[in-house]
Amino acid sequence: MTTPFPADFARSLPKAELHVHLEGSVDPATMLRLAERHGVEAPAIDVAGIDEWLRFDGFPSFLDRYFWVCGLLRTADDFADIAHAYLATAHAQGAVHVEFHVSSSYHIVEREADWSEVLGGVVAGCERAEADFGISSLLIPDLSPHLGAGAAHRALDVVLAELHPRVVAVGMGGPADNWLEEDFGSAFARARDAGLRTVSHAGEHGPAWEVRHALEQFGAERIQHGIGAMGDPEVVAMLVEEGVACDVCPGSNLALAAVPSLDVHPLPAMLDSGITVTLGSDDPPLFGTDLLSEYRHAWNLCDLDESGLRVLAENSLVESFASTAAIEGWLAGD
Ligand SMILES: [Zn+2]
Repeated sequence: MTTPFPADFARSLPKAELHVHLEGSVDPATMLRLAERHGVEAPAIDVAGIDEWLRFDGFPSFLDRYFWVCGLLRTADDFADIAHAYLATAHAQGAVHVEFHVSSSYHIVEREADWSEVLGGVVAGCERAEADFGISSLLIPDLSPHLGAGAAHRALDVVLAELHPRVVAVGMGGPADNWLEEDFGSAFARARDAGLRTVSHAGEHGPAWEVRHALEQFGAERIQHGIGAMGDPEVVAMLVEEGVACDVCPGSNLALAAVPSLDVHPLPAMLDSGITVTLGSDDPPLFGTDLLSEYRHAWNLCDLDESGLRVLAENSLVESFASTAAIEGWLAGD
């Protein structure tokens, strides 16, 4: 029988969260507050009702809920509030650094929002959290494949026109059904030319070729999820040899039925293969999870001991895009 998860020990480990979506991090109480602020009818009147409504049945209904939350985010204050609220939650679980994925294609192209206002709000929330909790944070605007390559370039134009020091990378995130038909690689090349790092969702529901594509065409330095890579030993070898980490979220994979049950999650095989893994909560309130729950999943799945938990926490620090000095400080326990 597995030893009970040492939650206090796991909380005490300095760690980074590299796979969490800002818009997917909004908790039910904040959703209700934002709905009231903007006169939007909420699908329930209290936190328990929202929690119930958030239990979805498949990727399309998850996206419905995700974009309903996105629709509540309208002003700089909204973005500041959600960034600060999530960083408070992450800090309480021992995170010293968070890299927020931000759905830039949605805000810039679909909603035609003022990116300056979005970015200014998020940055204000990050700064306030840094002052309150000492937590570090960086931003990864995600391009979305379902809008097409033209839209990805338009979103990138806006992101690159106003680069803030907290914007450290661009990513790819969203329904991925047109990766091969269109050229998204040129958008990632532009981002790199502008000095940004590059990451990509891949191999969540899809097969190993998605991961290969993200490595070869996007130059992804980290893969969000990547569990599909285990279907092709060549892709596994690419990840290991190139030192590309996978930011894995078992709770999300279960909630979105990317795996039929946690018992068959490939996390143990990923660790055995030598892939560097970090843990993230993806869209925690929507999946009924949080960062420590992901460490608990890893503990149970992989039969870890405390040193195994420490390795996962250290991976998240080392693989982050924070400065070398900051990473060395966290590793030294400063
Ligand atoms: Zn994600």
